[in-house]
Amino acid sequence: MAANQYFSTSGRLLQRALPTKDNLRKRGIQVTTECVVCKNGLESQSHLFRDCYVAQLVWKSSPLGIISSNAANVRMEEWLMSFLSYFFDQDGREEGRLIQFTSILWSIWLHRNDILFRGVSGSPETILKAAQAHVHRWEQLQEFKKATSQVVQEVDKAHRNQKVCVFKMGNCQSNNFIAVVVDAAWKKYDKMSKKHWIAAVGWEEDTNQPPRVQGAMKIFAQDPMQAECYAIYWGLHHVSQVARNVLLKSDCREVVQALQDPRKASKHVASILVDIKNMAASLDYFVCINVCRDQVVKAHSLAQQERKCL
Ligand SMILES: [Zn+2]
Repeated sequence: MAANQYFSTSGRLLQRALPTKDNLRKRGIQVTTECVVCKNGLESQSHLFRDCYVAQLVWKSSPLGIISSNAANVRMEEWLMSFLSYFFDQDGREEGRLIQFTSILWSIWLHRNDILFRGVSGSPETILKAAQAHVHRWEQLQEFKKATSQVVQEVDKAHRNQKVCVFKMGNCQSNNFIAVVVDAAWKKYDKMSKKHWIAAVGWEEDTNQPPRVQGAMKIFAQDPMQAECYAIYWGLHHVSQVARNVLLKSDCREVVQALQDPRKASKHVASILVDIKNMAASLDYFVCINVCRDQVVKAHSLAQQERKCL
């Protein structure tokens, strides 16, 4: 759930555009008037989101601890705006309370729809849990973004005079992330096997914990560049089965540049690059950066071992 979706819900609320029952009646649509959450009030925006005793319980027990029971005389728009602008002014770039506030609004609305359309029974706990899950996902997203930019900064420092190449696709949306290093080992002619173009690629989760994903395989490649492309392809193939947000590190600057701008790629890798992008498109988020050689050493030794055991 992207943060702007929270804001758009409060925006629509402010414009009275949500299809609550009072709004539907104003448009001449026949609906019952009862609040489905408490079964004991008329469903209007101010009731559903603020004055309903379920909403009151939710606001009070939320981390924001808002008492909404004495707000009945305040217009709903003013009530919402006063909180939104208060959090904006007080918290600056810290969006935590804004996200809390809008997550609760959003979760009340989703819960109301679940009661109405799926027949679930109303419960403040369900709303609170859903809101906290939204907030938690948002926090993890922030952490991942921070971690990604830290990695990029570190790599930047290591390269100093060379800017890091970054290729990105999609948006980070969920909380399963994985960072992986890939590399290739290539030789034009292998004396042992008497074979040409035998190469191998390796991949491993970049973590201090036991890796969830690790492997290597032999491939045919015309040159080191093509082998590097296959390393990314197969690495991505394996990690995409465990996570939907992937940070992939390669020591081959040319491949990352070729992903950024396919016109820079030579013909013999073009179709692999297309395959990589297609696979990346089926994920939520894919980031590929170039790092220095010693950062992919785990993947390199996996590839080398695999290439040697013919
Ligand atoms: Zn109610």
